[in-house]
Amino acid sequence: MERNARSGTMELNKEALREEFSKHYKDYYSTELFEREGFKRRRCRICGRYFWSIEDRDTCDNPSHTKYTFFKEKPINIKYVDFWKKFEEFFRKNGHEVIKRYPVVSRWRQDLYFTIASIQDFQRLENGVMNFEYTANPLIVPQICLRFSDIENVGVTGRHFTSFMMAGQHAFNWPKEGYWRDKTIELNFEFLTKVLGVKKEKLLYHEDVWAMGDFSEFGPCLESFSQGNELVNSVFTQFQSFNGKVSELPGKVVDVGWGFERLLWFYTGHENAYEAVFHDELERLRKELGIKYDRKLLHSFSELAGSLNADEVKDLAKLEHEIFEKTGITKEVYRNELRPLQALYSILDHTRTLLFAITDGALPSNIGGGYNLRVILRRSFSFIDEYKFDIDITELAKHLANELKPLYPELSENIDIFGKVIEIERKRYDNSKEHARKIVSDLLAKKKEINAETIKNLYESHGVTPEFLKSIAEEKGLSIEIPENIYSSIIESDFARKEKGKKIKIELPELPKTEQLYYSFATESKSTILFVKDTYLVLDKTPFYPEGGGQEADHGTINGIEVIDVQKLGDIIVHIMKERVEGKDKFEVGELAEAKVDVERRNRLIAHHTATHLISATCREVLGKHAWQEGSNKGFTKAHIDIAHYDKLSEAEVKEIERKANEKIFNGIKVSVEEMERGEAEGRFGFTIYQGHGIPAKKMRIVIITSKDGKLIDAEACGGLHAVNREHLLGIIKVINTSRVHDGIVRLEYVAGPAALDYFEMEHSQFEKLSPLLNLANEKIYDGVLALKDKQKELFDNYKKTVDIAAKKIAEQMEEKSEYVIELDAPVELMRALASELTEKRRCVALIKGKSYFVCISSSDKSAIDFAKEKLGNFSGGGSKKVAEGRLGG
Ligand SMILES: [Zn+2]
Ligand SMILES: [Zn+2]
Repeated sequence: MERNARSGTMELNKEALREEFSKHYKDYYSTELFEREGFKRRRCRICGRYFWSIEDRDTCDNPSHTKYTFFKEKPINIKYVDFWKKFEEFFRKNGHEVIKRYPVVSRWRQDLYFTIASIQDFQRLENGVMNFEYTANPLIVPQICLRFSDIENVGVTGRHFTSFMMAGQHAFNWPKEGYWRDKTIELNFEFLTKVLGVKKEKLLYHEDVWAMGDFSEFGPCLESFSQGNELVNSVFTQFQSFNGKVSELPGKVVDVGWGFERLLWFYTGHENAYEAVFHDELERLRKELGIKYDRKLLHSFSELAGSLNADEVKDLAKLEHEIFEKTGITKEVYRNELRPLQALYSILDHTRTLLFAITDGALPSNIGGGYNLRVILRRSFSFIDEYKFDIDITELAKHLANELKPLYPELSENIDIFGKVIEIERKRYDNSKEHARKIVSDLLAKKKEINAETIKNLYESHGVTPEFLKSIAEEKGLSIEIPENIYSSIIESDFARKEKGKKIKIELPELPKTEQLYYSFATESKSTILFVKDTYLVLDKTPFYPEGGGQEADHGTINGIEVIDVQKLGDIIVHIMKERVEGKDKFEVGELAEAKVDVERRNRLIAHHTATHLISATCREVLGKHAWQEGSNKGFTKAHIDIAHYDKLSEAEVKEIERKANEKIFNGIKVSVEEMERGEAEGRFGFTIYQGHGIPAKKMRIVIITSKDGKLIDAEACGGLHAVNREHLLGIIKVINTSRVHDGIVRLEYVAGPAALDYFEMEHSQFEKLSPLLNLANEKIYDGVLALKDKQKELFDNYKKTVDIAAKKIAEQMEEKSEYVIELDAPVELMRALASELTEKRRCVALIKGKSYFVCISSSDKSAIDFAKEKLGNFSGGGSKKVAEGRLGG
């Protein structure tokens, strides 16, 4: 952080904030409970951090300076979902409402692909300001979170996962008081000592600071540790900063993210969290696959494995070596006995992550969040191949879904789609492996150095996983070192880069918000000019719809001059005129302007926009819940929608989508727009309202399509114009093209309303012209053309035969030579046939020269191209030793 980002008395970097809060620890860290139970504040002699404990000790409980000491000789056996019941019961008893988890695909946040923390469920970013939306207070939520930054730690450290449950405990202190630090730590202490079974003498609270990446929100936090395990972090989000100015948040938030996997791990006393979380599956798999392991070995390795954090440790190999020394484990034993276990842990973790992600509508692909899903899936395939595990990912997912059913029943409902996705991805992976084997062999043959950069490139451009790369090298008797943190460089960050550049660059003065007349379907206005610059024009109110949500801008005229584009900059709508209007008559600031929207264009955009919502809903109906809208365009002649789908669309699927979308129109639809609170909208319709172009604002504009009898067809947050009260405007929807935009995304192009009529007219007129030409009725044209094609082929075959016979006859009459130059102005086919006839039986070179074309064929040592050059001089064309052909003259 910048050292000079100072404001008030607080400097905005973690170190400085830690110092600040520490200095005033009574205000930020001490609690009634510490006093009552005899927790004393102490300082760690190793890392210098402050912590609270009953036990008199001089080191904190950071896993890097201590062993894990909570493993049990006989671990407790309890199922994941049963342990959740204990958790739930405790907080319910203590006045918390239990709510359902939110999707792991974070559609309501524009800046994140996935849900990475439970508090995110309630955060809504609006114009850079964070608001909170919650349905209960205080509450707990079994939120599954996805994080891809620690992939190489998964399976190794004993505690890292790409998906985990953050059991969120949240109290919002606005508009009325929820609760704050004292109560939070009371609950924390009671849960840990009574439910989890932590001895209070073994419980430590570390003082720390939590902050958003940009310090827009931050506050002190207390981390609960016991026997080397960080059990939970209780964050007290108390401050905000805006433009460097720090102030107390009006609504302070208690944000306790209980790492459920770690709690379960601690409770059961297993050697690592995977053994606790996936206990039954591991037992089954080890039995089926015949994997034997030495628990003592796992035990001694696991006690120290906590420090093997690729994120924090610079020289992992060195640390690994130290652990081998301390435990007496040889490299050999590690590779043969512990690595396969770690691979198994990773496969289980990755499969569970994919199960949640695909259930919630994400797909493996080569872009964005889907990219990360493909990385972990390929990593799993790679492990399966490397260790020759007989594991079927879909079968495994079924087991996991079944086990989690009491808590997450939705996982079992979507397993069919999951299976299809995995099957297709496996085929793609196998293809890429074939391809990769060649590339890698080439590289190895050329003795090119394979460094981190090459490994990364090989994954990015050819999908070669580092594990697979290593295995090919080993087949060839070579060993290559895979850097420990290679996945961190391959993986995309959790944060999305969805922001698109603005279309126009113009500095606007301070202006009032433009009044939007288009929502009441106005197409004309008399408005006052507020700003003119070059071709840009701003009015106080406008009927012109600015480009947005995939809907193109209205066109028309203002004071007779054409409007060619309209853009929204914040609250201001800017008209882009066909010519420069600055300094022009009737375009002075303060003057009245007559705005007229091109109604025909407007009607077409409306029809295409409503059609898009219908197609989007129908795609989800026909293809499945994963078919999210990823982008769209609603233009004058046609519209398109990009849909997430794991395969290309079959003809039958396209037909079904088209037919079902039209049936809805034929049966009668009602399109309405309702303004409602964000929470209400999400509650009533779910997160499907965020189809690519809706942004969560406090007040949401929801476009609702129902059938005549009131059944909901589609509801989306959308700022576009729709066929409200204009049920006949839509007419018919015709899908005119489909394609794959890229992996995991298919595009449907279609026309609706007036544009559909244009399209049909265009097609019909083609038939109208063809019909008299072929002397066939419209519906017979296809068969007629087929017959013509057959006829044409027959004619061509006959012609070829004739040419061959002629060439043979001519060749027969020529005397034998080793070089021919023949002038023959004939069809190219005959020239070619003659040249090859001549060179067929004798070693010679034959050049046939017409008026403007030549063919040269050689069966002797003389090169055809050289011979042509020698005899013809200048020509354009080319050839080789055997054949040369081209035009004569320069
Ligand atoms: Zn320490
Ligand atoms: Zn829309």
